[in-house]
Amino acid sequence: MIKVGVFGASGRVGKLLLEDLKATPNMSVSVVYVRNELDFSIDPSILVTADMKSFLSACDVVIDFSLPEACETLLEQAIKTPKPLVVGTTGLNTHQLNLLKDASALMPILYATNMSLGVALLNKLVYQASAALEDFDIEIVEMHHKHKKDAPSGTALTLSESAARGRGLDIDKVRVSGRDGNIGARSKDEIAVMALRGGDIVGRHTVGFYNDGEFIELSHTATSRNTFSKGAIRAGKWLFEQEAGLYSIADCLEL
Ligand code: NAD
Repeated sequence: MIKVGVFGASGRVGKLLLEDLKATPNMSVSVVYVRNELDFSIDPSILVTADMKSFLSACDVVIDFSLPEACETLLEQAIKTPKPLVVGTTGLNTHQLNLLKDASALMPILYATNMSLGVALLNKLVYQASAALEDFDIEIVEMHHKHKKDAPSGTALTLSESAARGRGLDIDKVRVSGRDGNIGARSKDEIAVMALRGGDIVGRHTVGFYNDGEFIELSHTATSRNTFSKGAIRAGKWLFEQEAGLYSIADCLEL
């Protein structure tokens, strides 16, 4: 039985993880981390702790869906108490990403801005389309629920990286995430990544390739957050068997 520690257990995805893990063979939740008190009931056999060291010591693998600052604290402690970590938190800054890379020298870490199989495949298709359709303009639009804190979404940023790689471009030099006023004509290499927010949209991403006379749009829509919790559980099961290193969801799915 693989003992799972859930970090961010009271969040939208975290609560689903607790439910989905109940129905997962050979895995069970052993511990959840909380800052304050848990505001819902949980199986009494599960340890509820605000102590990061106890949290890490009480599980075989951690699944994290929290916020960037919280993930940073988790990584800092994990360097002292290494555990396989599935990190789903998005919006990590450069310092936090470097911390994640450094920590992966000591433990296996799977970092995925989107845990769904569909988006993993979409990244592959975007890379291929971007390379094949070299004269097409690339524009990415993402839509999420009104509570989402980071923008553009981590998934959209990962898709833009796949698109830039297909063209041999550095995404940091070509990404545009806002247009307003008299900005002039679009430049050839720019890759736009735009964010819309509203209602309860779980997540929609469209990568468009536009040319004179034709265009292609590749879209993915998540209709349920269970896509992410179930994907993270599958990743946790896989990561438990891996050596220290930094892994992507494509590694886990062998895409
Ligand atoms: P949420 O706001 O509902 O939940 C956040 C959780 O983090 C809560 O449990 C909260 O208590 C906890 N938290 C916040 N600050 C903390 C701190 N300082 N210490 C410890 N815990 C803290 O968010 P959500 O919708 O569940 O999403 C969580 C994260 O996962 C976001 O970054 C979101 O973008 C990302 N996400 C990733 C995927 C994916 O597939 N990778 C899918 C959906 C969401």
